[in-house]
Amino acid sequence: AVRYERISKSFGATPVLREIELDVPGGTTTCIVGPSGSGKSTLLRCTNLLEVPDSGRVLVGDEAITDRGADIDRIRSRVGMVFQRFHLFPHRTVLDNVTLAQQQVLGRSRDEAATIARRELDSVGLAGLEDRRPAQLSGGQQQRVAIARSLAMNPEVMLFDEATSALDPELVKGVLGVMRELASRGMTMIVVTHEMRFAREVAHQVAFLDHGRLIETASPEEFFDAPRSPRLRTFLEQVL
Ligand code: ATP
Ligand code: MG
Repeated sequence: AVRYERISKSFGATPVLREIELDVPGGTTTCIVGPSGSGKSTLLRCTNLLEVPDSGRVLVGDEAITDRGADIDRIRSRVGMVFQRFHLFPHRTVLDNVTLAQQQVLGRSRDEAATIARRELDSVGLAGLEDRRPAQLSGGQQQRVAIARSLAMNPEVMLFDEATSALDPELVKGVLGVMRELASRGMTMIVVTHEMRFAREVAHQVAFLDHGRLIETASPEEFFDAPRSPRLRTFLEQVL
């Protein structure tokens, strides 16, 4: 589970997150949507301490990760994050890309890390591609390597920041399929996305962020079929 308790964050004089309150129960998927610049990435980044909120608390499980003295490396291994760009090591094989952090952060042996990597690569549909370099894969396959790399760390929570936005249209489906499968296996996920169909079909709740404020949080049915706030209605008219 993840819980945001009144978190606020400014960059200089510009407020980017304003008293965000949100609960993501364990085993559920929350999609976050909103206009460009509304604070979606910043909110995700506060969930694994790539950013630190100015006030408020973020809890992962029952640990307040924003408390002083929290162990950042350990928290990042509990909270996996997948970005728009894949950030793979270009000169390493797929297998190395999925084993390195396991060895360095979790102290697993090379053999153990490789066994886990093969299992996760298989789960994202990439069995047999272990020896390739990232450049020898499609964008969709590279993104699935990035997902496997996160999963190999046994995260409690997975964050996705527009994980399909940089992909050619025909490659989006494969990555969304992997995310859908993860959600159905009960992974706790927070997904920033423009894929409204994914949000409607997969999310347990959808949250609308606008100018750093969480304007509306609802079940997908209510969110898309009976939005309460005028701003969300306008947003949906633009994107649907
Ligand atoms: P997009 O849909 O374009 O990805 P977003 O909703 O993810 O947008 P954020 O990236 O969270 O928005 O940015 C929110 C605001 O904070 C923007 O106005 C952005 O310019 C600003 N911002 C983000 N990171 C920084 C930073 N490191 N320093 C200064 N301003 C920042
Ligand atoms: Mg963003």
